[in-house]
Order: sequence, then structure tokens, then C-alpha cells
Amino acid sequence: MEQRRMDYHLHTLHSFDGRQSLDELCRTMLEKGVGEICLTEHIEPGHPDSTCDVPPLWDAVFQEVREARQRYPQLTIRTGVEIGDNPLCRDAIMKELDSLPLDFRLLSLHLVNGVDCYCAPEYFDGKTRKQAYREYAEAKASSVTQWMDFDSVAHIGYVAKFSVYQGKERPLVYEDAPDAFDTLLKYVIANDKCIEVNTSGYASTGDTLPHRSILRRYIELGGENFTFGSDSHDTARDYDGIERAKDMVRAMGGKYQASFDKRKRLLYRI
Ligand SMILES: [Zn+2]
Ligand SMILES: [Zn+2]
Repeated sequence: MEQRRMDYHLHTLHSFDGRQSLDELCRTMLEKGVGEICLTEHIEPGHPDSTCDVPPLWDAVFQEVREARQRYPQLTIRTGVEIGDNPLCRDAIMKELDSLPLDFRLLSLHLVNGVDCYCAPEYFDGKTRKQAYREYAEAKASSVTQWMDFDSVAHIGYVAKFSVYQGKERPLVYEDAPDAFDTLLKYVIANDKCIEVNTSGYASTGDTLPHRSILRRYIELGGENFTFGSDSHDTARDYDGIERAKDMVRAMGGKYQASFDKRKRLLYRI
């Protein structure tokens, strides 16, 4: 089984907050020796900030990907989506996704009880750290276990990314909500899905999202499949931290890095 440089969490100008064109992304990745990328443009149905609830123009995405595949035959380009889950719109989201010929579905959660954890300090106002972090962990476990048709679970620990807490208190760790994490991880394993290792956490929390304590528990419970993503929105962060994260997960006993072609999974050695 071979190894491969892949990045499975990427945003371009087709996402409301993307700051790189697909062309810039492809050229940057080729310079870094990356063999495969997967676009995961945002959908955020019902997000309270209407500037976030602007889905990509899918026809334009597919068209641009077709052109980029011709221009950069040495790079495998997959088309995915980062699903911003919202319990209030879940049925509509599932229906919309079924109409799209996507390679990969990355299940994400930014809203906790209707508030994006991005909104610091509002999200944290009136809560202790314990409450703020627990509520996120419980909402995340509930989100994942309500879904069946996805491929990988995005950035567990997102609550820490914009948190008001610093230092050792910053990352969301396994001990913050062992029951919620066990429920989530066991569900992922039982349904043969993947856990994303998101490297955007390094800058804010000093660790990946999820924190290594949660990744360790996933492996301990028998979890084997990972996707790795930089969650980059601009050329400065493309593929950033992925080799470092792979080294860490490999050292913990993690086994496989997944790639997806029209939802069909291919496994590589980490
Ligand atoms: Zn984004
Ligand atoms: Zn996200």
C-alpha cells in the first residue's frame, strides 16, 4: 500500500470565505508535491449570519474542476462539500446533496444551539468553560449520529478554534466529554466512516482538530481511517501542517489515509 500527499479540506472562491482561485490552489499544491486535492466548499443552510449561507454555484464548480483536470493532469482533483450541519434544515440538506455528483462529503458543525462558535465572545458569554465545551461536544455527537450518508467527520474541537480560553485550557480534549466522544467515535467506527485530522488547529490550539487525546481514543477503540485536511482558504495555508499531522497519527498507531472517488473510498498508508 502506497503513501500519497493529499489534502481533503480546501476552500476556493466558490466558498463565501474562500480567498484563492482553483487555479492558484492547483499550482500551489503541485509546487508542494501534492498528488491529490479535494475541494470542500461550504454550505451553511440556515446560518444566522446570512453572508455565510451562500452556497457555491455548483454548475460553475463542476465546470471549473473539469477544466482544471485537463490543465493539471498530474494532480487528482476531487469535488466535495463541507456540510455545515443544522438540525433545523437537515432534511433539505440531505435532499440537496443527493442531487449533486460529489466525490466526498465532509460532515461539519459550526452552529451549537443556533450560535456559531466562531462568534467569540458571544458563544462563551454566560457559560463556564466546562459548559461551553461540553455543549459543543454534545451537539457534535448528536450531529454525527443523526447522519448516515457522509464520509468523514470534520474538525472535532472547532469550539476551541476561536475560543476565549488560552494555553492549556484552549483545546477541547477527550476528558472534557468522554461520554459524548465515545458515542461519536463508536458510531464512526461501526459505520466505517473516517475522522478528519484538521491542521488549522495548530495555529490556534497548538494541536490538530481533534486534539490528539481524542485521536488516541479513536485508535484505542479500533478506528483506522482518517482524512487529513489543512482547511485552507488561501495559498499561504495550502497543505500546511499535513505532514506533521501524519507523522503524529502514524506514531500513535493510526493506519489509513482515505481518498474518495464518487463516494468510493480508496485507502493509502498514512
Ligand atoms: Zn471557511
Ligand atoms: Zn469548518
